[in-house]
Amino acid sequence: MDDYAVVINAGSSSLKFSVFRRPDMAAWRLETRGQIEGIGTGPHFSAKNEAGQKVADVQVNGALQDGRAALGYVANWLRERYGGARVRGIGHRIVHGGARYTGPTIVTPEVLDDLRKLIPLAPLHQPYNLAAIEAVSERLPGVPQVACFDTSFHRNQPAVAEIVPLPREIRESGVQRYGFHGLSYEYIASVLPTVAPEIAAGRVIVAHLGSGASMCALKNGHSVDSTLGFTALDGLCMGTRPGAVDPGVILYLFQNLGLSAKEVETILYKKSGLLGISGISNDMRALLASSEPDARLAVDYFVYRAAKEIGALAAVLGGIDALVFTAGIGENSPEIRKRICQASAWLGIDVDDEANARSGPRISSKASKVSAWTIPTNEELMIARHTGILLGLIEQRV
Ligand code: ADP
Repeated sequence: MDDYAVVINAGSSSLKFSVFRRPDMAAWRLETRGQIEGIGTGPHFSAKNEAGQKVADVQVNGALQDGRAALGYVANWLRERYGGARVRGIGHRIVHGGARYTGPTIVTPEVLDDLRKLIPLAPLHQPYNLAAIEAVSERLPGVPQVACFDTSFHRNQPAVAEIVPLPREIRESGVQRYGFHGLSYEYIASVLPTVAPEIAAGRVIVAHLGSGASMCALKNGHSVDSTLGFTALDGLCMGTRPGAVDPGVILYLFQNLGLSAKEVETILYKKSGLLGISGISNDMRALLASSEPDARLAVDYFVYRAAKEIGALAAVLGGIDALVFTAGIGENSPEIRKRICQASAWLGIDVDDEANARSGPRISSKASKVSAWTIPTNEELMIARHTGILLGLIEQRV
C-alpha cells in the first residue's frame, strides 16, 4: 500500500495544501495541490493534479469563517478523493521556530506550547499555522504531525549575523535576527549538487523573489546570512512590505503623525513596497506592463535594492561564485533577472540572453566569472521529505 503525506501551509486568509504519494521506499511525488483563498470573506477552492490540470475550481457557498472551517472543507474534499489511503503524516509550514527549533520536529503538546510563545514574534502568521495543527489533531488524532520552520535553516549563522545591536535586556526577550524563507533555501541547497554541482560547495547568493522576497548567503550549502531579520520586513523591497527602512521613520510615524501601532503594522505589511511606491499594484507583472512613472520607479527600486543586498552579501561571503534566482518573480521574469544581473556586473556576472529567456537553469554566459541560475523552489516537497524522515519513513532518492 502506498504512503501518503499531506503538507499544509495555513495563512490568515488562505489555506494551501499538497498531497504527496510514494510507492514503497521511493521518493515523494506530488499528486494534488490546492488552496482555499478568501477565508472569512468569499472563499474560493481550487486544486490541480500532478500534471497541473485543474481538478476543482469552486466558489464555496457560505463564509468558511476561519481556518478550522477551511480545513474541514479541504478534509472532506480529500476524503472523497483519497478515502482509505494510508496517510502517514501531516507536515506543516510554520513561520517561526525561534532560537530553539534548529530543525523540523514532531508536534507534541509541549512543542505546541513552545510555539505559542512565539506568536508575538510573528503575529500575522504563527497563530494561523498553529490553529491548523490543532484542527488536524482534532480530526485525525492518530496521525503524527511535523512542524517545519522557515527559520531553522538559518540557525547556525555566526553571532554577528544574528545580533540586533540593542541593549541586552531587550535581546534576551528574543530580539535577534532569525531569517525566513528557510525551507525554500534548504530546498535549493539540496538540489544544487545535482542541478549545479560546480557551485554546490561554493559561495552562493540565493534570491527568493516572490511576493515576499529575501536573499540568503550560502557557504557550502549552509546559510551564513540572510536579508530578513527579526521579522519578515527587513531587506529587499517586497510586494507590500518596504524592506529595510531607517527605524527613525517608524518613530516619526508614531511621534509626529500620531499613528497607532495597528496603523503602522498595516502600512508596513500591507501598503508599502511595490504597492506603496507605484500606487498601482503589488504584482510585478502589472508593474512591468505599465508605463506609469511610479510603476517604473517601483521596479527600479526593486532592482536597485536587490543589487545593493547582493553587494552586501558578497562582502559577507568574501566574494561569490554564483547567484541563483527562485520563487514567483525569480523563476518567471527574465527581465527582472537580467536587470539585477546587469546591476551586479561588477561582480563578474554576465547574462546569456537566450538562456535567460528560456529560464536556464544556467542563465549566465560561458565567459561569466560568476555564474547565474534559475532554479524553481519547492518548499512543499522539502516539508514532505522532512515529514517522511522524522517519521522514520526511509526514502530512496531517485
Ligand atoms: P508567494 O510569496 O506568495 O509564495 P510567489 O513566489 O508565488 O509568492 O510569487 C508571486 C509573485 O510573483 C507575484 O506577486 C508576481 O508579482 C510575481 N510573478 C509571477 N509571475 C511573474 C512573471 N511572469 N513576471 C513577473 N513577475 C511574476
